[in-house]
Amino acid sequence: MNHIIIHYSEIGTKGNNRDFFEKKLVENIKKSLGDVVSKVYRRYGRIIGVLQKKIEVSEVVEVLDKLPGISNFSFALKSKLDIKDIKKKAVEVLREQEFTSFKAETKRSNKDFPLTSPEVNGEVGGAVIEELGKKVDVKNPEMRVFIEIGEKEAFVYSYKYSGVGGLPVGTAGKVISSLSGGIDSPVASFLLMKRGCKVIFVHILNKTQARGALTKVEELVEQLTKIQLNSKLYIVPFEKIQKEIIMKVPSKLRMIVYRRFMMQIINQIVKMEGAKGIVTGDSVGQVASQTLENINCIYDAASWPVFAPLIGTNKEEIVNLAKQIGTYELSIQPYPDCCSFMIAKHPETKGNLKVVQEVEAAIEDAEKLIAESVVGAEVKKFSF
Ligand code: ATP
Ligand code: MG
Repeated sequence: MNHIIIHYSEIGTKGNNRDFFEKKLVENIKKSLGDVVSKVYRRYGRIIGVLQKKIEVSEVVEVLDKLPGISNFSFALKSKLDIKDIKKKAVEVLREQEFTSFKAETKRSNKDFPLTSPEVNGEVGGAVIEELGKKVDVKNPEMRVFIEIGEKEAFVYSYKYSGVGGLPVGTAGKVISSLSGGIDSPVASFLLMKRGCKVIFVHILNKTQARGALTKVEELVEQLTKIQLNSKLYIVPFEKIQKEIIMKVPSKLRMIVYRRFMMQIINQIVKMEGAKGIVTGDSVGQVASQTLENINCIYDAASWPVFAPLIGTNKEEIVNLAKQIGTYELSIQPYPDCCSFMIAKHPETKGNLKVVQEVEAAIEDAEKLIAESVVGAEVKKFSF
C-alpha cells in the first residue's frame, strides 16, 4: 500500500468554516504521523497521505484510531484513472487476503470517468473472479474492495479502520482538566479533546504520601498526548492546604473541602491560561464525593462552567473507553490519591453547602494558601 485515505464525517457539516476544520485536521495528521508520510493533502472531501517508506501498519493504526476528527481510514493503492489499472490494483489488494466471497464498492466523485459506479463494480468483480477464483456475494461478502474515483487518480483498498470521529483538537478553546490518577478523569479529558478542545491538565499532589503517583500521572498525560499532540501538566502542591484542612475540618467533610480547594486552585489556572471551563471525571453516585449533594457543594467553588462528560455514564462504559484510548492499564496501577487521605471511613454523602462553608471558615488564610499553591506549581510540557 502506498497511500492512506482518511475520511472525516462531522467536519463535512461545517459550511463556511469547513476549510478551517480540514486544515487543522491535516496539520494534526502530519504532526502525528511524522515521517511515515511524505505528503498529506486534501482532495475531494477526504485527506490523502502519501506513505514514505515501509511502514508498520499497527503503529499507524494506533495513532490514527485515536486522532479526533477522523471517522475512518484505509491503506490504499493509488491507481491511474483507467479501468485496466483499477482492476489490476484491486486484484493486487485482494491477492494476499483470505476469503471466499467478496463485493466491489465504487464511489465516483469524478463524473467524467467513462464508467458508472455499477459498471466499475462489474469490471473489478470480473477481474477478481478471473484472477483469484473468488465469488461475488453482494449481500454477505466476506471481503469488500473499495474503489474511489477522483479527479486525478483513483484509490483501491479493502479495509476500513474506525476512528473516534468528532472534531480536530485545536478547533475549540482550551479547558482545564482536573486529572487524578484514576480511570475516569483521563477519559473525561479525552471526550473534550474529541470535541476539538485543547486540554490542559492539573494534578493536585500531596507530596508526603504520593510516592509513585507522579510518574503515573505523567504516563497518563503522555498517553493522552498521542491524542492532542501537545500537552501541559500543572503539578500543584497541596500538602500545606491539606494539613490545614485536616487540622480544622471534621474528617467526615474533608473530602468535600479538599475538592473545593482543588476547584479554587483550578479557577486560578483557568484564568492564567485563558481557558473556558473545568473538566472533571465525576459520574453521579460512583463514589461518596459524587452524590448530587456533594457535587453541588464541590462545583459551588468553581468560578467557571464545570464540564463533567461522564456524569451519566456507567463504570463499564468508562472502562471500555479507557481501554480504547490506552489509559486503562496505567490508571489501574495502585496509587494513593490525596482525595482519600485522612478522611472518615464513611464520609458525608449528603453535603450541605452552608455547613461546609461554616467549617471552611476556620481556615483563615485560605486565599493565601491557594495562591501559594498555584505559584508553587511545577509545569511540565509533553509533545508527541
Ligand atoms: P477518577 O477515576 O477520575 O480518579 P474517581 O471515581 O476516583 O475519579 P474521585 O477520586 O472522587 O473519583 O475524583 C473525582 C474527580 O475529582 C476526578 O475525576 C478528578 O477530576 C478530580 N480529582 C480527584 N483527585 C484529584 C487530584 N489529585 N488532582 C486533580 N483532580 C483530582
Ligand atoms: Mg480518583
